[in-house]
Amino acid sequence: MTENRPRFLISDLCAFLDAYLSAEQIREVYRAYLFGAEAHEGQWRKSGEPYIYHPIAVARLLAGMRMDYKCLMAALLHDVIEDTDTAREQLVAAFDEEIAELVDGVSKLTQIDFRTREEAQAASFRKMMLAMTKDIRVILIKLADRLHNMRTLGVMAPATCRRVSRETLEIYAPIANRLGLYDIRVELEELGFAHYWPWRYRILERALSRAHETHTRLMEEVATALRERLEQAGIPGAVSGRRKHSYGIYLKMRDKKRPFSDVVDVFAFRVIVAEVDTCYRVLGLAHNLYRPMPGRFKDYIAIAKSNGYQSLHTVLLGPQGLPIEIQVRTEDMQHIADKGIAAHWMYKSDHGGGNPQVLAADWLRNLSEMQRGYGDSVEFLEHVKVDLFPDEVYVFTPRGRILVLPKGATVVDFAYAIHSDVGNSCVAARIDRHLAPLRTVLHNGQTVEIINTPGGTPNPVWLKFVVTGKARVNIRSYLKNLQRREAEDLGQRLLDAELKNFGLAWRHLPGERLQRYLIASNLTSAEQLLADIGLGNRMPALVARRLAVESLDEAGGKPRPETETGQPPRFPIRGTEGMVVNFARCCRPIPGDGVVGIFSPGKGIVIHRQECRNLGDFQRQGDKWLDVEWAAEPGVDFSTEIRIEAGNRRGVLATVATAIAEMGSNIENIQSHEKDGVSASLDFLLTVQDRRHLARIIRRLRAIPLVMRILRMSR
Ligand code: MN
Repeated sequence: MTENRPRFLISDLCAFLDAYLSAEQIREVYRAYLFGAEAHEGQWRKSGEPYIYHPIAVARLLAGMRMDYKCLMAALLHDVIEDTDTAREQLVAAFDEEIAELVDGVSKLTQIDFRTREEAQAASFRKMMLAMTKDIRVILIKLADRLHNMRTLGVMAPATCRRVSRETLEIYAPIANRLGLYDIRVELEELGFAHYWPWRYRILERALSRAHETHTRLMEEVATALRERLEQAGIPGAVSGRRKHSYGIYLKMRDKKRPFSDVVDVFAFRVIVAEVDTCYRVLGLAHNLYRPMPGRFKDYIAIAKSNGYQSLHTVLLGPQGLPIEIQVRTEDMQHIADKGIAAHWMYKSDHGGGNPQVLAADWLRNLSEMQRGYGDSVEFLEHVKVDLFPDEVYVFTPRGRILVLPKGATVVDFAYAIHSDVGNSCVAARIDRHLAPLRTVLHNGQTVEIINTPGGTPNPVWLKFVVTGKARVNIRSYLKNLQRREAEDLGQRLLDAELKNFGLAWRHLPGERLQRYLIASNLTSAEQLLADIGLGNRMPALVARRLAVESLDEAGGKPRPETETGQPPRFPIRGTEGMVVNFARCCRPIPGDGVVGIFSPGKGIVIHRQECRNLGDFQRQGDKWLDVEWAAEPGVDFSTEIRIEAGNRRGVLATVATAIAEMGSNIENIQSHEKDGVSASLDFLLTVQDRRHLARIIRRLRAIPLVMRILRMSR
């Protein structure tokens, strides 16, 4: 083949381009060549040729597919980012964004390392390559690049040959097949086969040529007979015979575990005619000529293959009982069969061309129209669509396993995809060795390593950004369990506080009393009762009274008056109760504030400041109120909100924020509203230990000259 010959020069390429590109476009291609030649100056291929011969050959392959001039320019430049010190920006400056994007896309595919990956994941790899590609031309350049490398593979070390060949067979040839690029696929397969199993390839080739020699006369006989039948029927058509390609035969032998002598249908004839309905007539003629083998007829015209291939296939029992495959199709179908998506391209570029994305989408649409109404093929088609425009991202675990996640998936989704325990205890990740927070959205080709801590637990906030069902379900169920445990703890504390008024304690309740109460209240267990109280579904005072009355009846005593000490005891709040004790967002109470608790069915207790105006809503629901107070030493920091009115000057926000941080407080959120040109109002959500801490912060802020007014917010 021409492009295989060394010293295929840029002048040859340009002469070839004359057939379908304008003079100006060819000049641009030449300019790309000059740039590439200079960048690769002094580099040599293993074969001893100047490096630039390789990009020229790649461009020549694509020119054979009639690719547009920008694609050819990118082909000439395809290795400059990866193999020279040229940066993407230089390509933008010298050419344009489109060219730079194409070259960059090819480089990214080159950078994926297949070596360490598991064999079974080839399919995911192919999908990942397609997913990483926004422009289908990147794949076409990469395929042409690989094809030329395969043609010149012989000079490489044996280990390299094997690795590259395996990649070619597992990744590149199937992609070529998906896109209907038959010529490229077959050549990739033959070269891959020859280099990966050189011995098997040689034996098979020898057997095939021997069979071919033995049957030459028979082949000619069949071809002549077919031509005669066509002539008699007055059908113009071309008949050609050929040997099938060896990798296909090898796979058949391997999959069916049959020796070569059993694989006899190694010859195929192709009949090309003008019209679709003529195809069926030719099929009839062929079936009259030799007996068809049952079950071997396939109508790929009515139901095209997923890559758009159309043809009639049948197998006949030829002279001497030799099976012969016959393929009948039109010239158009032949064109598609050889060139796939590229055929579509050629046709379009002959008719004004178009944007590559539109062309690719167009090609897919053609496929779907071709297959409309055939239920079975819809699934095939879905595969093609998914492969070309996937809604998935493909990422690696540190060991090189590929995980497929929906688009938009985050670190947390990734962690749960590995294992629910990994998800439950994740705290951060390293993405391509850089530290990244949990909400980071993942992109194709990244390697993600989850960082866990034993104490890590799921955060309800995660539910706002995870996209996979698995993550969502696991987080929910973890939180539900946690909430239930917290509810039981709180329920017991609340009930104990009430039981104390009757001189009782939960631990020492007579078992029988408790059982009777549980049955009467339709509860299955003591834990359920406690959880119910903790969740705000049952009022602890009522439960305590009923339990106490029954107990006291038995003991014959009387309830101890609640007002023994003048005031009922208050329930202590620590802030560490978890999901069942919530601090109202309207007034954001902190230790030191006078507070009340409101039972909120299903959620537990909500703590408000006593002066919160929203408490009015609960005025008439006395049983929902709970007397609470701050525990002596609350275990956590609390969030509260202050508004600062300050002079509207540059830097005021930074000054205030710094002061707050210096006072040992974290800022959780800032909102600023410009009041007028003179002053601005800044709302800070910040963490404090208690009122004294807040007071110190406010005092410190007042000292800032620009600060005019500070107030604690309540909504
Ligand atoms: Mn290359």
